[in-house]
Amino acid sequence: MNRQMFDLRGKVAIVTGGNGGIGLGLARGLADAGANIAIVGRNEAKSKVAVEDLAARGVNAISIAADVTDKVAVVRMIDRATKDLGRIDILINNAGINVRKPPHALEIEEWDSVIDTNLTSAFLCSKAVYPAMKAAGGGKIINIGSMMSIFGASFTPAYAASKGGIVQFTRACACAWASDNIQANAILPGWIDTDLTKRARVEVPGLNERVLARTPAARWGLIDDFAGIAVFLSSSASDFVTGTAIPVDGGFSIQG
Ligand code: NDP
Repeated sequence: MNRQMFDLRGKVAIVTGGNGGIGLGLARGLADAGANIAIVGRNEAKSKVAVEDLAARGVNAISIAADVTDKVAVVRMIDRATKDLGRIDILINNAGINVRKPPHALEIEEWDSVIDTNLTSAFLCSKAVYPAMKAAGGGKIINIGSMMSIFGASFTPAYAASKGGIVQFTRACACAWASDNIQANAILPGWIDTDLTKRARVEVPGLNERVLARTPAARWGLIDDFAGIAVFLSSSASDFVTGTAIPVDGGFSIQG
């Protein structure tokens, strides 16, 4: 095997929501493979800590404060990353939120905020980054789905719609941009221990026990479980892999 196929030195990645949780796990993997990183989030104090974590891995890391639901802010964010880091090879659309309510209790404002953050942001960021990737002769786009991309749950109507949508959006980009040598793939995390799910464990009674019982690996995922898939989907090792949705779930989605 040619180990250089996983080498990301000289590459630049943007990771939305990279200041914590799964986004930081993905960013750490890319940094350990040599990529320079721009993380995007709204909480600047959290971003500062994450940048220190990434820079300690020997790469150039910056944070950009932006709301990924804001079209103008997204264009500015891509411009800034290109200017400060010189190029963009990899975009990870990871920023996400959830509002846990059954469909009959969900307000339209809550629906909109989840769809805007989880799905429309991926469209805005991908569209904004496309000209640079096309001009550079290729690129990698990675979108973060969920088990809710494939399963339903009573308490996640907008979240499930956004995560189902992200898989189909990934396939559309993969088809549209294959001739530009841009590969677009989705990752479907299982149940991962982050701020997002810490709240879910409180809000959804019995969740912790159900996750442990259903996951063949019999544990919650850790953010560093995402390093390997990030490197694979960002490197030349995956140049003939596009439009797919890969579970990183300890077997949750194949348990009968
Ligand atoms: P966290 O709550 O830990 O992280 C969410 C990240 O998104 C934060 O960095 C946050 O940064 C950022 N973010 C949220 N809204 C915006 C916004 N409008 N603009 C910019 N950044 C934003 O959650 P996770 O790490 O758990 O989730 C990351 C992704 O993984 C999400 O897409 C989630 O749906 C998905 N996922 C998570 C699973 C899990 O079990 N944890 C399972 C399946 C999917 P800031 O607050 O600074 O803006």
